[in-house]
Amino acid sequence: MAQVAISNVAKAFGTVKVLHDVSVDIADGQFVVLVGPSGCGKSTLLRMVAGLETVSGGTIAIGERVVNHLPPAKRDIAMVFQNYALYPHKTVEQNMAFALKLRKTDPAVVAERVKRAADILDLNPYLKRYPRQLSGGQRQRVAMGRAIVRNPQVFLFDEPLSNLDAKLRVQMRTEIKELHQRLKTTTIYVTHDQIEAMTMADKIVVMRDGRIEQVGAPLELFDRPANLFVAGFIGSPS
Ligand code: ADP
Ligand code: MG
Repeated sequence: MAQVAISNVAKAFGTVKVLHDVSVDIADGQFVVLVGPSGCGKSTLLRMVAGLETVSGGTIAIGERVVNHLPPAKRDIAMVFQNYALYPHKTVEQNMAFALKLRKTDPAVVAERVKRAADILDLNPYLKRYPRQLSGGQRQRVAMGRAIVRNPQVFLFDEPLSNLDAKLRVQMRTEIKELHQRLKTTTIYVTHDQIEAMTMADKIVVMRDGRIEQVGAPLELFDRPANLFVAGFIGSPS
């Protein structure tokens, strides 16, 4: 596991600046939620941590290393997306094993890691099924399984529950938190949902228009919002 330090990070697409001087420190093992309205720059920031977008200014460090110029595969992170991005023609087991096989991992290690992930996520009955034969929640579990098998230093989640219905969202929230309590992997979780932020985060980062409005524990933000935007955003139902 590792700490993540985002220091004075900026991002421009051409002449359009979408992130301005963003700094966030995430402690080893912490579960940090980036929350804010659609378009405020959450995904862009997460993708920069993942190495899927270049950094226009500032630095991103994972553990002891500044990773600005490291490709995604060398960053020791695993990302879970909203749309699952499972391979339709691979079984659950093959989906989970694929990234490890690409890295030429010893087959015995692959088998052991897939088994462990399946145990943790209750996926054992579904290992031979294809994604189309699974429910939305099961697919999202497979997507998490693919992240877990890599034993990453950092988990990155981008709105992983937004395609699920309300009831399943509540259940998956609990499952992701239990997963974190069990593995204690440093996590950055992006959502536009205040309830997810309030119930899941050790620390919430509230963003608006490419800037950070406030950082704090859920109750801190609720009790002492820095401004009306945070008060309105954290205080209102999703
Ligand atoms: P969020 O995830 O908070 O909804 P994003 O990070 O996706 O926000 O987007 C932040 C801003 O950056 C938006 O205005 C979006 O249109 C813009 N943006 C994101 N990706 C690109 C891109 N590849 N090219 C140009 N603009 C982009
Ligand atoms: Mg987004």
